[in-house]
Amino acid sequence: MTAPLTAGGYLTRRRAAAGLSIADVATMLATHTANEGPLASLIARIEQDEVEPSGLLLNQLRGAFAFDHHTYRFLLLGGHAPQLCRICACSWCDPCDDEVAGPCAWSDIDPSLCTHCAARIAAAAATQPERSAREA
Ligand SMILES: [Zn+2]
Ligand SMILES: [Zn+2]
Repeated sequence: MTAPLTAGGYLTRRRAAAGLSIADVATMLATHTANEGPLASLIARIEQDEVEPSGLLLNQLRGAFAFDHHTYRFLLLGGHAPQLCRICACSWCDPCDDEVAGPCAWSDIDPSLCTHCAARIAAAAATQPERSAREA
């Protein structure tokens, strides 16, 4: 968790934060079911930083789950990315939104976490320690 976040890793976290698997995203974006497999492999390679998505695909991905394309570019090009939550990689550019809790902010208890992730960790610690919400 301490390794610097890559552009691909950023997408992985934002996708996972949206509760989507790569297959889910491929299903959402594929124009035909036959395209889902190749699209899923492509997204996986993008998340592994093996290939860069086209501008079009990046836009399509943004339609599937929330992430900030400026942050993505910063991470890709090695620029100065804004502060990101260390779990879900949200930022002030694209805060988590929750129907009940509203948009997130930086946690007072741990400033590297947003309030939504801090609340989830607190809730998980209260019930099931060591349980990971991440999906591959
Ligand atoms: Zn977060
Ligand atoms: Zn957040």
